Formats: sequence, structure tokens, C-alpha cells
Amino acid sequence: MQVTSDHETDVVLIGAGIMSSTLGVLLKELEPSLTIQMLEMLDDCALESSDSWNNAGTGHAANCEMNYTPQRPDGSVDISKALEVNVEFDLSRQFWSYLIEKGAIADPRAFIHPVPHMSFVHGAENVAFLRKRFAAMSSHHCYEGMEHTEDPRQIAEWAPLVMDGRSGDEPVAATRIISGTDVDYGALTHLLVGHLVSQPGCAVHYKSCVTNLVREQGGRWRIEVRDIESGETRSVLAKFVFIGAGGGALPLLEKSGIPEGRGYGGFPVSGIWLRCDDPAINERHHAKVYGKAAVGSPPMSVPHLDTRVIGGRRSLLFGPYAGFSSKFLKHGSLLDLFESIRPANVEPLLSVARDNFDLTEYLVGQVLQSENHRLAALDEYFPKADPKDWRLQVAGQRVQIIKPDVKRGGLLEFGTELVGAEDHSLVALLGASPGASTAAFIAISVLEKCFAGELTASAWLPKLKKIVPSYGASLIDDAEFCRQIRSATAAVLEIADIQHPAERTPLAVKRA
Ligand SMILES: Cc1cc2nc3c(=O)[nH]c(=O)nc-3n(C[C@H](O)[C@H](O)[C@H](O)COP(=O)(O)OP(=O)(O)OC[C@H]3O[C@@H](n4cnc5c(N)ncnc54)[C@H](O)[C@@H]3O)c2cc1C
Repeated sequence: MQVTSDHETDVVLIGAGIMSSTLGVLLKELEPSLTIQMLEMLDDCALESSDSWNNAGTGHAANCEMNYTPQRPDGSVDISKALEVNVEFDLSRQFWSYLIEKGAIADPRAFIHPVPHMSFVHGAENVAFLRKRFAAMSSHHCYEGMEHTEDPRQIAEWAPLVMDGRSGDEPVAATRIISGTDVDYGALTHLLVGHLVSQPGCAVHYKSCVTNLVREQGGRWRIEVRDIESGETRSVLAKFVFIGAGGGALPLLEKSGIPEGRGYGGFPVSGIWLRCDDPAINERHHAKVYGKAAVGSPPMSVPHLDTRVIGGRRSLLFGPYAGFSSKFLKHGSLLDLFESIRPANVEPLLSVARDNFDLTEYLVGQVLQSENHRLAALDEYFPKADPKDWRLQVAGQRVQIIKPDVKRGGLLEFGTELVGAEDHSLVALLGASPGASTAAFIAISVLEKCFAGELTASAWLPKLKKIVPSYGASLIDDAEFCRQIRSATAAVLEIADIQHPAERTPLAVKRA
């Protein structure tokens, strides 16, 4: 094996998915003189979780995902988490709009489409829950325009396939918000990487697997890279490293040896979709219809029947059916989970296994599911579905965070977390929910965590506010500003605007 000379750069981004590409583009906008290298082990960008078919493409704004609105013991519904996720998506909307207005992305239809977000439930208890949830959400300006019905005919108008063939003797209910979106994160990642590397001082290196991270004297990082094709190794010296390696982030965080990463573990959850490409069926469904999660299921395994628009073509997606695989990446190794075990994370891993029996039971059940079971689940959302119209599509891997906890030994978390070095020279992104939708929020969080010194009025702040005008304000508290931002971004992204619902039909139909 041959070692070639070192290269130096300001920033290394590990992984060419939506997270690294968003951070790279944002950093370059704020500081055009930065040199940035993106290192990706596969032979293109967006081949793992950010790939169009590896995720559901929901522009997660917590409109329809009932896991963000838990019921309190007194029966009321807590919408605080939903509000957080809702306005995090506004940051992405502003970032994408900025890139479109500046001409860096030519056409919003290359990656985003208006698709109403619906929650659908059946059974008296669930219907009562949805009524309360609607009352709590629709009274907040962030959910202005949300509609609710318990009338089967109205639901049939909103989502014909969901109601067709359903016996009329069970109560049903739905909410809908027409400003929802379907986002092709794979296409978006390609656009972002293309824009980044078209700029001076920026490059992406494919087939470049990061094998180690070593801190040099003086605080820089030496990133060791193996060329997948030739087997040769080289290293890159960087002042700042972002480990945006998706499921591969945990092993790299461990290799960095930073004390802040001690005790973290990962719990991989795999997924499978059912996919239908028949235009005659797909034309009858224009929504993302989310149901309630089964007992013990991880929150991101809530079943949903989704309109997808990928490469200009409409499809239907149903799932995900969760599963267990010890791989951390779809293209990873079955040894990933075992190789991530360190003395410091044994206790957190064992505690999580002990405390989450429901989840284990649920995943075992999912793994053992036969095709008939899968179709029965689809039946709940599309009673007249014909098995021959559907095929299996393997989704991406999600590695949930296991973190040390003083009281319980370890906690399983379903969100995302930035784990960074004390001197702000390296940060890793762990976890995968709410996911790609909040890429701009995550990139801004990296700036706040690692570049706080530059986020000042005399440095990056004015430009950041130009890119994301709501930065520093609260769209949860300021109703008028929230409306303004949503109208402005809806116009640029060509998605439905709650402020001007009259325009919704032309917008939805325009170029879908
Ligand atoms: C089933 C499923 C459904 C989802 N649905 C949604 C949804 O509807 N909406 C939403 O917003 N989000 C969704 N997500 C989450 C979303 O897909 C992820 O949060 C997002 O794509 C993560 O992006 P990333 O850039 O961090 O990781 P990835 O896209 O996985 O990219 C990481 C990259 O790092 C590379 N890499 C790893 N290790 C190394 C190494 N050692 N050296 C070099 N390169 C390396 C990988 O090859 C990969 O290309 C879903 C995810 C899954 C799995």
C-alpha cells in the first residue's frame, strides 16, 4: 500500500449526502474564500439515506406525523415538539428559496412538489384523539389552514384510494394541510453538490473511504483516506471536519477519539417500502397520508401512503416496514454494529436492550412478516390494493442514537444530535429524524456550535440573515413574520400557500 502526499484544506466534509452538501453550500456562501473537500466512499453522491427511494421524501413539517403530538396523561395533546419541527422546515424552505433566487438551482420542480399532508385514523378512540389534536394545532398560526373532517365522503374526496372499499360502520377522521410537500432529497443533494464543486477551492472525491481521523499538533485533523479502487491511502489536513457520514458517522466519531463521543452507541433500523408505478392508480392519490404507529414501533416507522414525484414521474409509496439489520449503511457491512462496540458503550447498549423490549418485539415481528402480512397493512390505507401492482423497494438504514445516561445506563433517542469536540474543530451528526427536511437547521446548528466567533454583525451574520431571513427570530411566536416567510418561500418554491388558498389548485396542478 502506498501513501501519497498530504493535502491541506479548511474544511473536510465526510459523506456526500444532504447534510454535508447543505453545510458545504452554506459555509461557502458565508465565507467564499474557504477551501472545502468532500470525501465520499461510494461512486456518486446521495446513494445512501439521501437517495430518492431510500427515504420517503416527506418535507417533514410535523403536519401529519402523529408521533410529534403525544397525548398527555390528562388527555390533552402536546404540540410543542410539532411546532419545533414545523419551523425547522421553514429554515430549509428559506435556504432553498435563496439558492433558487440566486440562480444556483434553476427550477424548484427539480426537487420539490406540493403534496397535501394528511393524518388518517379509524376507530372511536383514535377519532377522538385526532379531534383534540386538530383543536390544539389549528389554534396556532403555524398550522393555519389545517382542515379536519369526520365525514367519510370528505375524506374520500381528499384521498379516494383510502376510502374506496371501506365498510361504512367504523368511525374515521382525517386532517389535511395543503401546504405540505414531497421532496426528492436525492435530486436536491445532486444539485447542492454540483453547485458546491463548481466554486473555486471546492472538490468532491468519490470512492474515497475515510478510515481514520487523527488530531495533529496545532489542532488540525489528519483525515486518512483509502481509495476504494486502487487501495492506495492518502491523507488530508483540515482545520474543521464535519462527519456527515449518515450511519457511518458513529464509527468515525469513535475513531476521532474525542472524549465527547465516549459512550455513544448506535441501533440500526432497516426499512422496506411497497412501491406502485401504475399511472392509472397513482393519479387517484395526491397526498401523504400518515396513520398512527403500532404499539412498540419506533416513531419513524409510522405507516404512510405517499405520493412521490421522482425524476418527474409520479409513484405511490407505502411503508416503511421496519426491520433489523446489523448494517449501519445500506452499502455497509453486517459487522458494523459489532465493530462499534467499545468498553464505554457496552452499558448503554445493554440498558437500552433491557428497557426497550416493546421495540425489540416489534422489530422481530416486522422481520418475520410475510408478504401477506405486508399486504394486510397496506389494505388498512388502500383497501382495494391489488398485490400485483406493488413491488418491494429496500429503503435506507437509520442508526438511532444510544447515549449514556447516569440514571438508566443508556437511552435510545430517535432524533438527531451533533456531537462535537470541545475546541469546535470537529463535529459528527448522529441519528436520522426528522431527517433531511431539517438539513438547513442542522447546518445552522453546526455554525452556532463550531463557528460562533464568525456569527457576528461584522462577519457572517448579515449574510446568514440574507440567506435565512428568519434567523434569530421565532416563527412560533411571531405570527405575522411566519405568514410573510411562508408566502414568500411558497412563491419561490412553487408550493401551495396557506395565505392565498385560492391559488392552490393552479399551484398544485401547474407542473406536478
Ligand atoms: C426509511 C427512511 C425514510 C426516511 N424518510 C424521510 C422523510 O420522509 N423525510 C426526511 O426529511 N427524512 C427522511 N429520512 C431521513 C433522511 O433520509 C436522512 O436524515 C438523511 O438522508 C441523512 O443524510 P446524511 O447526509 O446525513 O446521510 P446519507 O445520505 O446517508 O449520507 C452519508 C454519506 O456518507 C458516506 N460515508 C459513510 N461512511 C463513510 C466513510 N467512512 N468515508 C466516506 N464516506 C462515508 C455514505 O456512503 C453516504 O453517502 C428517512 C430515512 C430513512 C432511512
